[in-house]
Amino acid sequence: MTDAANAVPGFSTLAIHAGAAPDPSTGARATPIYQTTSYVFNDVDHAAALFNLEVFGNIYTRIMNPTQAVLEQRIAALEGGTAALAVASGHAAQVLAFHTLLEPGDEFVAGRQLYGGSINQFNHSFKKFNWNVAWADATEPATFEKAITSKTKAVFCESIANPGGIVVDLPAIAAIAKKAGVPLIVDNTLATPYLCRPKEHGADIVVHSLTKFIGGHGNSIGGVIVDCGTYDWLSAKKRYATLVDPNPSYNGMRLAETFGNFAFAIACRVLGLRDLGPAISPFNAFLILMGVETLPLRMARHCENALAVADYLVRHKEVAWVNYAGLSANKYNALAQRICPKGAGAVFTFGLKGGYGAGVKLVSNVKLFSHLANIGDTRSLIIHPASTTHSQLTPEQRKAAGAGDDVVRLSVGLEDAADIIADLEQALVA
Ligand SMILES: *Cc1c(COP(=O)(O)O)cnc(C)c1O
Repeated sequence: MTDAANAVPGFSTLAIHAGAAPDPSTGARATPIYQTTSYVFNDVDHAAALFNLEVFGNIYTRIMNPTQAVLEQRIAALEGGTAALAVASGHAAQVLAFHTLLEPGDEFVAGRQLYGGSINQFNHSFKKFNWNVAWADATEPATFEKAITSKTKAVFCESIANPGGIVVDLPAIAAIAKKAGVPLIVDNTLATPYLCRPKEHGADIVVHSLTKFIGGHGNSIGGVIVDCGTYDWLSAKKRYATLVDPNPSYNGMRLAETFGNFAFAIACRVLGLRDLGPAISPFNAFLILMGVETLPLRMARHCENALAVADYLVRHKEVAWVNYAGLSANKYNALAQRICPKGAGAVFTFGLKGGYGAGVKLVSNVKLFSHLANIGDTRSLIIHPASTTHSQLTPEQRKAAGAGDDVVRLSVGLEDAADIIADLEQALVA
């Protein structure tokens, strides 16, 4: 064999082929939708070995499914991880990741520039498990170090954070997590592994909402946890009980000892997913896999279109400011060149000189853009946070959250850039 034949395939090849093979029983080339709840055991010994984790295999679709397995292997390959677990939503991925790391009373530090739903999840629902978040500023890595205490078990941030078009200095935050001896979890939803692979910048665990750019077509909710295989649970100074202690529900098995550099992904599946239950449906796994096949093509076009739209808006007389890290004048541009050199994604905010009223008018007047609360669709999407997602807050709270009265958020789609710009032009004139 030649060297080229031995080389690791490129990103586009992995996006289409990783984890998949023709179906052994039918020859089907596309990955089938295994729409089944359960799987017949070969014999009694096989059944016992499956339940004891002595062999890997399908038992019940809450825990594992062959369509889901292809999706998991593909995302693990794209992120450069050892293993992955696909689940029902991005939020489910976060719950299972923390369920595996934290015991009641433990803490984690998170950059406060996060998806709004994550802020709610961490502040309120996680409190019911007695998992406590300490907030840092993702634009000031030193604030993570200040927030770390003896109870801190993990650090969490997004790679590209919305709103505000922030690109996060992952290597700086990873160095702080490493010094504290805790794993770094990165939510890589807005970047996708095409633009940024957090493992290369020091992350130990990557989570995604597959609902957004990875699925990419606005048709299914899903999430994934990627184990980068980099964190050594056995020699850690902190005790990660779920990973290192004998497990009473698996005959005293110690997961980190048994499964080594993919123990975290196994623990998320055989404890978190088994017991909390947020499984992804085989049909959603199939739709998201379809999306992954074109991820590199779509992300390149998303970024190209976003840059064209941002360029247009910067020069518009009704526009006060544009927060897109892809613009050379943006304060995060230098960081974007290091963290996501192929592009700064397709979600960004801009401000209207006309304030609240102008924002409401703009979202009412667009025709090609859809006015809704999502991102990462083939279609261009728009929202005015002050009158929708953030309408319950006071004007001061909105401003602090990056959702002031003048702010409009775009998720630039895959239509012709000229048509996207023409739609904004007619809506801004009206
Ligand atoms: C949407 C989103 C989530 C939550 O994902 P769901 O699939 O909606 O549960 C988490 N993080 C980011 C950055 C998101 O955009």
